[in-house]
Amino acid sequence: MSKETIMNDLTAALGPDAAIITDPSITPSYSRDQAPFAASQPPIAVVLARDVETIANLLKFAHQNSIPVVTRGGGSGLAGGANSTSDSIVLSLEKMNEILEIDTKNMIARVQAGVINLDLDKAAKEFGLAYLPDPASREWSTIGGNAATNAGGMCCVKYGVTSQHVRAMTVVLADGEVIKLGSPTKKAVTTLDLTHLMIGSEGTLGVIAEITVSLAIRPATPSTLIATFSSIKEAASTSTELLKFSPSMLEIVDQTTIKAVEAWKPLGFESAGAVLIMQVDDGSDLTPAVDLCTERGAIDAFFSDDPADTSDLIALRKLAYPAVERLGMTLLDDVAVPLTAIADLVEAVEGIAAKHQLTIAVFGHAGDGNLHPTIVYPHGDTEAADRALQAFNEIVNAAQSLGGTTSGEHGIGSIKRQLAAQETSPKVQQLQRMIKSAFDPKNILNPGKKLS
Ligand SMILES: Cc1cc2nc3c(=O)[nH]c(=O)nc-3n(C[C@H](O)[C@H](O)[C@H](O)COP(=O)(O)OP(=O)(O)OC[C@H]3O[C@@H](n4cnc5c(N)ncnc54)[C@H](O)[C@@H]3O)c2cc1C
Repeated sequence: MSKETIMNDLTAALGPDAAIITDPSITPSYSRDQAPFAASQPPIAVVLARDVETIANLLKFAHQNSIPVVTRGGGSGLAGGANSTSDSIVLSLEKMNEILEIDTKNMIARVQAGVINLDLDKAAKEFGLAYLPDPASREWSTIGGNAATNAGGMCCVKYGVTSQHVRAMTVVLADGEVIKLGSPTKKAVTTLDLTHLMIGSEGTLGVIAEITVSLAIRPATPSTLIATFSSIKEAASTSTELLKFSPSMLEIVDQTTIKAVEAWKPLGFESAGAVLIMQVDDGSDLTPAVDLCTERGAIDAFFSDDPADTSDLIALRKLAYPAVERLGMTLLDDVAVPLTAIADLVEAVEGIAAKHQLTIAVFGHAGDGNLHPTIVYPHGDTEAADRALQAFNEIVNAAQSLGGTTSGEHGIGSIKRQLAAQETSPKVQQLQRMIKSAFDPKNILNPGKKLS
C-alpha cells in the first residue's frame, strides 16, 4: 500500500474533521521520546485523537491494513517506548486532556488518558484531595503514559506506584473494539486482573483511552530530615532502618552527584560521601530518626518541620539530575535492587565507571531500591558514547546479579528488551508472547517494544 493510498483511506476512515498531521517538518517531533540511543523514524502520519471513537476508528483501520500504531502521551518516556518507525502511525493523546469527573465522596477521578499528571493533582487539591503518584516528569507526562509505564516517583515508598492508584479503564483493543476493565469500586476481584495487565504494557496490548484513579486525602506538609555520611555504605544501610518512620520520601545521593551539585550551586555538602533525605507527612517528631542516623555514624543529621525549609532541604535531590546534565551528555539508567543491595550496586557502578573511564553519578529512591545511575560522556565523542552504552548494559547486569531488575519505573521500551529477556525465563517469555498475540494477533501495537 503506498503512503498516498494509506492517507486517503485513513482520512476516509476517520472522517473529514479528524486532526491528521503529515507535514514532514512536524512529524519528526512526534517520532521519539527522551531516550538517547533509541532508534526512531518519522511516522507516516500523526493522528491527534479527541475522543474514544477516533481511537477505535484508527485502530480498526490499522488492524485491517496491518499498519503499526505507536501510542504517545507526553513523550517524556526514557526507554524509546513512544518512538515510531517510518511505516507506522503515531496516535497522540495530547488532546484527550479532559478531567471528566472528580467524585469527592467515592474519592475517585475519571480522566481522559492525555490528562497531565500535575493537572489532575491540582484539580484534586481544590477539594482537599490528592492524586499521589509523582513522577519527576509530572508537569508534562500523562495519566495514560504513567499507567502504560507504571510510573513511580518519590512518594511511592509510602503510597506505591501508579498501578496502586488505578481502578478502572476504557481500553481500545488492536481491532478497534472498546472494552471496560476494572471497576470504580475500591475492591473488585470479579475477573482476571486485566486492568493491571494493561498497566506497564507500554502500548503493546491496547490503547488506554480513559482511566478511573483513586484520590487520597491530601497529606500534610511534610517534615524533612537530612543526614550526611562519609560513605554510601553507611547511608544505604541507615536508609533501611529509617523505613520504620514510614517515610513519604527517602532518597539517596552519592558523592559524584554531590560534587556535581556543589560545583554548580554550593549547598555545603562538599565534605559528605553520601546524603540521605527523608520526609514524613504524618506529623511525627523526627528526633528519634536524627538519633538513629547519628548512632549509625552520620557526620551530621537534622530535621525541620517548618514548611518554609522544605524546598531548601530537598534542593540537593532536586538539583541532582540537572547538575549532572551540566557535565556532558547523559544516559540515565534505571534499575531496582533489594534495599540491602543498594551499597553493593553503587560499588559495582563505581567499578564500571573506572573500567570505562566515565563519570557515573548515582541518586534515587533509597526507600524502594530504585536507583538512577547517570552516565556522563563528552558531547560529540562517539567512542565515549559507545563506552557509555556498554556501561548502561553492565549496570543492568550488576543489578540483576544482585537480585534486582532491569527497570524500576522507566520501562523497557526499545532500549532494554534484550536486558529484560536475560532475567525472564523462556516459559515466561512464551506466556508473554501468547498474551500479546491474544490482544494483538497482527502485532500492530507498538511492535518491537517491551517484549523480547
Ligand atoms: C525529566 C524526567 C523525569 C522523569 N521522572 C520519572 C519518575 O520520577 N518516575 C517515572 O516512573 N518516570 C519518570 N520519567 C519517565 C517518564 O516521564 C514516564 O515513563 C512517564 O510515565 C511517561 O509518560 P508520557 O505520558 O510522557 O508517556 P510517553 O513517553 O508518551 O509514552 C510512554 C509509553 O507509554 C505508551 N503510552 C502512552 N500513553 C498511552 C496510552 N494512553 N495507552 C497505551 N499506551 C500508552 C507509549 O506507547 C510508550 O510506550 C521521567 C522522564 C523525564 C524526562
